[in-house]
Amino acid sequence: MYDINELLSKDLIENDLKGKSRNQFSDENFWMIPEGTSVVRLLPRMESRIPYLTSYTHRFSSGDENIVVDCLQTFKKKCPVCKRGWELYNSEVKSEVDLSKKVYRVERYIYNVYIVNDAKNPENNGQIKLVSFGVKLNGNSKHNGVISTAFSSEDFGSSIFDISNGYDLVIMRKGQGMSSDYTGTHFKTKKYKIYDFSEIKDKLINIDELFVAKEKSVDEIKKIFYFLGFNKGPIAEVREVTQKQDVVKETKKIVEVEKIKEEENEDIDMSIEEVDEDPSTDEALDDLMKELDLE
Ligand SMILES: [Zn+2]
Repeated sequence: MYDINELLSKDLIENDLKGKSRNQFSDENFWMIPEGTSVVRLLPRMESRIPYLTSYTHRFSSGDENIVVDCLQTFKKKCPVCKRGWELYNSEVKSEVDLSKKVYRVERYIYNVYIVNDAKNPENNGQIKLVSFGVKLNGNSKHNGVISTAFSSEDFGSSIFDISNGYDLVIMRKGQGMSSDYTGTHFKTKKYKIYDFSEIKDKLINIDELFVAKEKSVDEIKKIFYFLGFNKGPIAEVREVTQKQDVVKETKKIVEVEKIKEEENEDIDMSIEEVDEDPSTDEALDDLMKELDLE
């Protein structure tokens, strides 16, 4: 007779599983921005001289199913959903154009932050976590954000990422879900020291590693987004452009189409920042949980 329980340890297995989930996107890694006024210090990261990771996701909801998959552009690779989306966008069929907009990639910026003061949950104070900001707070090539504006200013510059001699970011969040509003978010104007960098260096979370761990292959992504019809070939050969004599005119047309697309995407980006059906959760965590559910 033998006891199977002598060969196995429930505690060790549970700890092992817990450890793995921590290496993925667990709620422990991510900080949900609470309603009210919270204070954080943005931090650099060790794996890159760009302090944030730009993440893109493709999402799709239908019935109970919520799909959230990292766009391969997050990893600087060609993405089948982006490519197919562009083809659908150029379709003559309205439903295909609409579908392309629904799966358009959503842009987020992932940072390490030191939480100075959490408006709702003081147990987070003093911890280093990841936070996901949208374009409005971060900024990008087309929009000025609170962070990009401060970084490029003479007053703040790289000090906004300096734990030992820098400026806190005061995040003001009003409302939840669809009505989230970050108006008033700003950097404090007085520098102060929280820690020496050497004291917190080992606590920084490797964001690249976390994302690479959940990168999907082209085939896996095509399987998940099968409803885009990857095997059907090109939908519109960039609309009659190749046939036309007047290349200049046609190029202009394409630029205009792209411009419209960008504008529409801006709307999408904005609304995504507020897409949150469960008002008790932050969109970032909500999405991540959905992602975990998929696996
Ligand atoms: Zn993509």
